[in-house]
Amino acid sequence: MPKLYKITKNLFTLTPSSNIYSSANVNFLIDKKITLIDAGTSNDPGPRNIRKILNSLGVPPRIDLILITHSHVDHFTGAKKLKKVFNPQIFAHYLTEQAIKQYSDFRNLGSFEYWEFIEKTFPIVRKTHFIKYLISFMYRRSFGNFEEFQLDKKLKEGDEINLGSFNFRIIFTPGHSPDSICLYEPNKKILFSGDMIPYTPYIHTSISDFRSSIKKLINLDVKLAIRGHGKPQIWQEEKPRYMHFLKDMDIAKLRILKILKLKGPQTAHRMANSVFQRTHLIHKTIYTNLMRVSVFWILKYLEELEEQGKIKSQLIKNRLIFSLK
Ligand SMILES: [Zn+2]
Repeated sequence: MPKLYKITKNLFTLTPSSNIYSSANVNFLIDKKITLIDAGTSNDPGPRNIRKILNSLGVPPRIDLILITHSHVDHFTGAKKLKKVFNPQIFAHYLTEQAIKQYSDFRNLGSFEYWEFIEKTFPIVRKTHFIKYLISFMYRRSFGNFEEFQLDKKLKEGDEINLGSFNFRIIFTPGHSPDSICLYEPNKKILFSGDMIPYTPYIHTSISDFRSSIKKLINLDVKLAIRGHGKPQIWQEEKPRYMHFLKDMDIAKLRILKILKLKGPQTAHRMANSVFQRTHLIHKTIYTNLMRVSVFWILKYLEELEEQGKIKSQLIKNRLIFSLK
């Protein structure tokens, strides 16, 4: 069931009607302008539910602005339908523009960025076109169709957005996605953290981006973190999770080096299980156990270690073998 949390007298967070992990929150900021932070998908919450919520809050059914935290399907694809109905302005990081184009190509099944991820995880998909169509069909059924839209403003690090009682500073936090931003309100000490923690580096991003983005956030003066999924979090409790993640990322890298030292050259596949034992428990549950993508994930760490010159990789009989340098 959707739930509306009242954060301040004019700020509300709506958790989705479907699963909170596959659908994102939509935040309502009622001020001089009516602003949404993240748009959900075209059917969750969708224009009809949004109109109902605005009615229940006693404000005119209007949206002036949509701010998008990042270009993952559950956060931004609803913006197009809302644009058609309410004609708001839409602001997002400048890299989001590229993602919007990619998503609209998804109908051609070509440049959809998740294929790389799906194919690595379930190699059978590469061979079977039918499965590809099936995934695409199911995907559109749950997230709705997606049409391209234009950004009215392309945001970058340090931009400020004045919305009356809320003045947001844009913090560019790539890592979960290449275009992730957090919105920070320094006077109210509220941080819209998007899908930073407990979510993880994802497709087309790197561990080192994720690490430096976490470091940008942990020094901010924050009281409340509003995540892209689930309940808002008191920063005092949320910040240690960020610190924990930083530490866990170092542990994962140390484990890789230790395995390579003890057992010699290895494939990512063979290393995966021992590297993530008790590391990033939430991450492990979501990504390793449910989505079986530990190999995809360990490659991110290996990529960073290789960049730092600590390990090297070699293609031997079609298999990528990693060893200490
Ligand atoms: Zn996300």
